[in-house]
Amino acid sequence: MSDYGHELSFGSFITPSAHDPARAVALAELTEAAHLDIASFQDHPYNPDLLDTHTLLTWVAARTKRIRVSANVTNLPLRPPPMLGRAAASLDVLSQGRFELGLGAGAFPHAVHGMGGPRLTPGEALGALDEAIDIIRGVWETDEPGSLRFAGEHYSVPSMKRGPRPAHDISIWVGSYKPRMLRLTGRKGDGWLPTLEYLQSPGMAEAIKIIDEAALEAGRKPADIRRLLNLLDVDFSATSRGHLHGPPEQWVEELLPLVLDHGFSAFLIGGDNPRLIRTFGEEVGPALREAVARERAATDAPAEARRAAVVLAKRHASLDYDSVPPSLAAKVVEPGDAAYEEVRHTYIRTGSPALVIQAANADDVVDALAYARGQGVEVSVRSGGHGISGRSTNDGGIVIDLSKMNSVEVIDPATRRVRIEPGARWGDVAAALAPHGLAVSSGDYGDVGVGGLATAGGLGFLARRYGLTIDHITAAEIVVADGRRLRVDADHHADLFWAIRGAGGNFGIVTAFELQAEQVGEVVSATITVDATDTAVFLTRWGRLVEDAPRELTSFLSLFPARRGRQVTGQITVVYASDDVQGAQDALTPFLIAAPVLDQQAQLAPYHALIVPPRNRHQGQGLEDTHSGLLEHLTPQVAAAIEEMIKSGDVLIMQFRSMGGAVHDVSKDAMAWSHRTQQFSVIASTAPAYASRLDDQWERLRPFLDGIYLSFESSTDPARLLDAFPEPTLTRLRALKAAWDPDGVFNRNFNLAATAAPSAMTRAGQAT
Ligand SMILES: Cc1cc2nc3c(=O)[nH]c(=O)nc-3n(C[C@H](O)[C@H](O)[C@H](O)COP(=O)(O)OP(=O)(O)OC[C@H]3O[C@@H](n4cnc5c(N)ncnc54)[C@H](O)[C@@H]3O)c2cc1C
Repeated sequence: MSDYGHELSFGSFITPSAHDPARAVALAELTEAAHLDIASFQDHPYNPDLLDTHTLLTWVAARTKRIRVSANVTNLPLRPPPMLGRAAASLDVLSQGRFELGLGAGAFPHAVHGMGGPRLTPGEALGALDEAIDIIRGVWETDEPGSLRFAGEHYSVPSMKRGPRPAHDISIWVGSYKPRMLRLTGRKGDGWLPTLEYLQSPGMAEAIKIIDEAALEAGRKPADIRRLLNLLDVDFSATSRGHLHGPPEQWVEELLPLVLDHGFSAFLIGGDNPRLIRTFGEEVGPALREAVARERAATDAPAEARRAAVVLAKRHASLDYDSVPPSLAAKVVEPGDAAYEEVRHTYIRTGSPALVIQAANADDVVDALAYARGQGVEVSVRSGGHGISGRSTNDGGIVIDLSKMNSVEVIDPATRRVRIEPGARWGDVAAALAPHGLAVSSGDYGDVGVGGLATAGGLGFLARRYGLTIDHITAAEIVVADGRRLRVDADHHADLFWAIRGAGGNFGIVTAFELQAEQVGEVVSATITVDATDTAVFLTRWGRLVEDAPRELTSFLSLFPARRGRQVTGQITVVYASDDVQGAQDALTPFLIAAPVLDQQAQLAPYHALIVPPRNRHQGQGLEDTHSGLLEHLTPQVAAAIEEMIKSGDVLIMQFRSMGGAVHDVSKDAMAWSHRTQQFSVIASTAPAYASRLDDQWERLRPFLDGIYLSFESSTDPARLLDAFPEPTLTRLRALKAAWDPDGVFNRNFNLAATAAPSAMTRAGQAT
């Protein structure tokens, strides 16, 4: 982490609306009046609702005297580089040195192509940007002898006279997020211009590292690249309502670490709001400049070693931060760090850990675990952060975050063996395996992580055809409680290998999985929305149809209660895991008469297209209260109980998943997951206010249930352990737990060592 010592700049990020052009110009004028330094504008030349940004920049430059102007960032593919270089230099001359060139490889390739621009793959767009930077700089280098000549893969400039000569050294600020673009920024950019809210993968610290390394490799200094940051989701209010949503003093506290620890030196705010621009320029800017000057003067230590006082102030007394091993020093996120908001919560739960350690490899995991154990605080293990049963955040403890360990590798195409790290998301796995014609049976939601799902089960769209995810694991690499790194498979630590396929969260931290993937190309998927008022009859029919269907077919059914004048609604999803369209049609058609159809659609699509990762920022937005159960069949009696539940109004959604077919091919003692006869998984979820009512409703179903899939259960009541691991599995697991994790380090996901009284369900959040 570094402060590169750059002077601070502040600015605005304005929408160049064609419907209210006067407002866009007025906001730029206000930017100057409020003592900010830069007015920047989005650039989407294919959008007729927006003005052409470079024309607007000229206008704004003419209406202002001091501020610099820039596109944020220029969409390159629609602007030929020689002409862009010339236009940039012209405006710089006319504005007396106030133009900077924000530049990007170009978003929305379809729209670009629609306007006659080239249709580029991401790799081609990157190559084109790389060449364009050379051409643009060549246009500006009027002291160079001779004409500008360039022969590249994307652009060719046979012979062009250089100039005009810009009035100042125009900076090229590159908008980049992905590793290859970040490397280009480090090699050639004068600045890096991302948007805070889009900095997700790789995260901020990793992105900075990539830029710095690329700069060094190119013989430059990391400080040669100025770091600018767009801030879009911001507001001023009297009291804090989250990151950059609070009074100016809070902003200063939150921006300070971005300067001192991450090296940002320019901040551009969006929102198109005059009040925001004024407060940013008149209050935040001066106060932050003062705070940064104070911090920089206060220490003689090298910039890299500084930690802002505000970060130190937010440390928890319970933790010895100074004894974080040096190997992890650059991989930790503390409560005062800017990146903390991105890593503190999970999809289901909010948290406030004292430290998040972002491991990059198995050695880091060993070091992190040793450090965490020594601190005597709660330890959470996080891969994708979608845990429902597992609590992968905490309050005041340590989170070992594996999201950076996310590689997906085909080890041997012939045997279809793949190696996947736990921090990968299933959407990414599906996309990475698709070019090889492969897929792993996983879930339905691409944002879910590999680590949590592949240690518990894995029930998704390919279940009846190919079984559970854990049925395909052939080996795993794991760090166990005493810090040893082990490779487990059928011949090595076979007992542990048995245990981690169903109860993995109890036994260690899996750092890689080896699986045998399946040959999967295109599949047929359909969604059918039905009027499910006659709930019990419909459910029984759907259950029968699923059980009778060929095993290519897997179906999910979501039931929604009657709301705001709408009837009880069912949404059936069917995936037919083959490109045999006729077979799919035959198998699908009976579902159309299960209940009155309100809407339907079917498509032949690559499997990976069904598992798109949404990549939301996790902030505890998921439904926290969920109960899970397994059913042998959907009998009329069960269906009647479910009808009462859904019509009670206490349940927000119920979901049923088919789990027969290949799931039943595996013997029940092959691994810790031993449910091999049940045809359906069922879950019910509700909003927090209805949690206890959900508990009551669930009692209606309990007499019919035969087991639970723990991944879908939010209660951690030890009384449910026997449902998740029926005997003799539970006894065997408990003996293994005592041997492999005698101190109970891994206790945040259906702790096998817990033996609390079989009382009412422990509510979500009260981990045992
Ligand atoms: C929106 C949503 C959709 C879902 N869809 C499906 C689905 O289609 N099919 C399905 O089967 N499940 C599904 N699940 C459940 C999901 O499988 C579990 O919640 C799973 O634990 C999530 O994995 P994760 O890595 O994202 O979770 P995390 O929150 O990162 O981890 C959850 C727990 O898993 C354990 N864990 C995580 N990583 C490791 C590791 N590397 N080694 C050992 N233990 C580890 C820890 O105990 C941790 O607390 C879904 C959950 C959600 C919220």
